[in-house]
Amino acid sequence: MTPAQTNEAWTRRSLASVWHPCTQMKLHEADGAAQPLIPIARAEGVWLHDVEGHRILDGISSWWVNLFGHGHPAIRAALVDQLGRLDHVMLAGFTHAPVVELSERLGALTGLGHAFYASDGASATEIALKMSAHYWRNAGQPGKCRFVGVAGGYHGETVGALAVTDIALFREAYAPLLRLAATVPSPDARQAAPGEDAAAVAERAAAALGDWLAEHHARTAAFIVEPLVQCAAGMAMHHPRYLQRARELCDRYRVHLVVDEIAVGFGRTGTLFAHQQAGIRPDFICLSKGLTGGTLPLSAVLTTDAVYQAFFDDQVARGFLHSHSYTGNPLACRAALATLALLEQTDALRTNAVTAELLAAQFAPLSSHPRVRHARRQGMIFAWDVASSLPDFARRYARHALAQGVLLRPIGPTLYAMPPYVISADEGAHLARGALAALEATLAEETAGAPRATAGADGV
Ligand SMILES: *Cc1c(COP(=O)(O)O)cnc(C)c1O
Repeated sequence: MTPAQTNEAWTRRSLASVWHPCTQMKLHEADGAAQPLIPIARAEGVWLHDVEGHRILDGISSWWVNLFGHGHPAIRAALVDQLGRLDHVMLAGFTHAPVVELSERLGALTGLGHAFYASDGASATEIALKMSAHYWRNAGQPGKCRFVGVAGGYHGETVGALAVTDIALFREAYAPLLRLAATVPSPDARQAAPGEDAAAVAERAAAALGDWLAEHHARTAAFIVEPLVQCAAGMAMHHPRYLQRARELCDRYRVHLVVDEIAVGFGRTGTLFAHQQAGIRPDFICLSKGLTGGTLPLSAVLTTDAVYQAFFDDQVARGFLHSHSYTGNPLACRAALATLALLEQTDALRTNAVTAELLAAQFAPLSSHPRVRHARRQGMIFAWDVASSLPDFARRYARHALAQGVLLRPIGPTLYAMPPYVISADEGAHLARGALAALEATLAEETAGAPRATAGADGV
């Protein structure tokens, strides 16, 4: 290895030229950085390899996007094939096989239709919100133009999406820019009072939504919710009853129900889509992240025929005139088609159920750790709240995890794992061992009286 190819050299060049996301850049600064930057040279399966050849198990699927491991041969082959045919063409006035086939497939899987494409999750949120409000305008009710979301909800960080995102750390600095949505209490099952179960918490939260809608429905276009798991809020999980009640309430008060399945879609929660566990049909579904198996940026919004028909008109201005340059990119669509084929061919829902049981057993020592509260799981999402007095617990933990060869980045005090579906039994054992060892190492620092952090709360 030449000096130019060390982790240190790439880190230095990156810090001088790249503004990294979701990061206080100062924490990366030089020697003894509170948060080391890891230059990755290649990835295969569940493994990331840094430029010096160390390997790290991707325990959070690279921010929840990767489903079948890195460099999956089927997705790679689809991309190579597509690159030889059509790289890109604008989707206004043109169409192509990958976008048609993907739209047909997503329509069949969701029971919704007319897929509208963008490149990231936040844009999908923007599209759903704009479509909903524009629908009501076209329907002669322009006053229905406000939104309501769930406490702790996360729907992306562009200005429109941030208005329905209820995470203070991400939102505070931009509050003056936003037309803030209302928030109703979360059905987070951890809020159960003694004697209450998850279904009872769901009913209680749904009653609060009902009260809110009773008062504000005339001004409300849509209710947006992350079904079953509010991931960015710290893997807050809720009972599907909440979604059933939300559907009833949205019907009663004529408000759209938007399900944001960007993080939880494509089998992550045990069903193909999380909202299916409630047996409901939403008015809009937002998809991204796992859609391309973690290879290329792509997002989609699908909706009902009723919404689509409200835009279908002789007047151009009644149409949905939103666009992005790369809307419906053929390469991204091919990656998505290959990913959907893998979900079917590998019988991913059944395979995941087995894998998740095994992982749960491997994580048992973590789940029963005396400092762990609320060990919980939904499909292939595992989470544990750690009772620690360290204000920078997440950062310290992530560092120790890397030293164990695992990528795990707690959200505040919540440690979680969301591995690629293809994780093997041996890899699961490595992940579980590393997760536990990192916890012990972090708690040992607390016992030793670690210096208090100067920066504020931890990010994602
Ligand atoms: C990640 C995420 C988004 C935003 O997606 P980006 O591609 O990061 O813009 C929106 N909603 C949920 C639930 C997410 O997890």
